Order: sequence, then structure tokens, then C-alpha cells
Amino acid sequence: MTNTTRDLIQQLAGLARRKHYTCEDSWYSCPQSEGGSANEHAGTKCDCGAAEHNAKVDAIAAELRGGTTLAETL
Ligand SMILES: [Zn+2]
Repeated sequence: MTNTTRDLIQQLAGLARRKHYTCEDSWYSCPQSEGGSANEHAGTKCDCGAAEHNAKVDAIAAELRGGTTLAETL
């Protein structure tokens, strides 16, 4: 795999990653967002789905970087 391909995978992963939900009323913001949530009962875990989404993005990027998935299935 060329460095260019690696860079492109990195760029693609960067574009695909989502930010945690933030609302003008921070009561509704995800606890993992930059400003956090004003709701102390919201806990500390992501509740907007971004963490799960970004984990999938990272897993796909890692598989692409590994270069084994495509090579092994062809
Ligand atoms: Zn979140």
C-alpha cells in the first residue's frame, strides 16, 4: 500500500467521523461533546451515537490500512 493510499484512508476517516451532538441548550448536548451536558443525570457516556459511529469508522479504516480484507477475499 502506498503512502498516498494511507493518506487518503486517513482523510476519508477524518471526513466520516462525527462530532458529538451539541445543542444551544446544553441540557440536551451529549455528555461527550466539547461543552458537555448541563444535565448531571446524563452520565459521562456518549448518548448521541457519535462514539458508536466513530468506532465503526475507525474499524473500517483499520481494515483498509491492514489491506488484508480485500486481498483475502479476492
Ligand atoms: Zn455523543
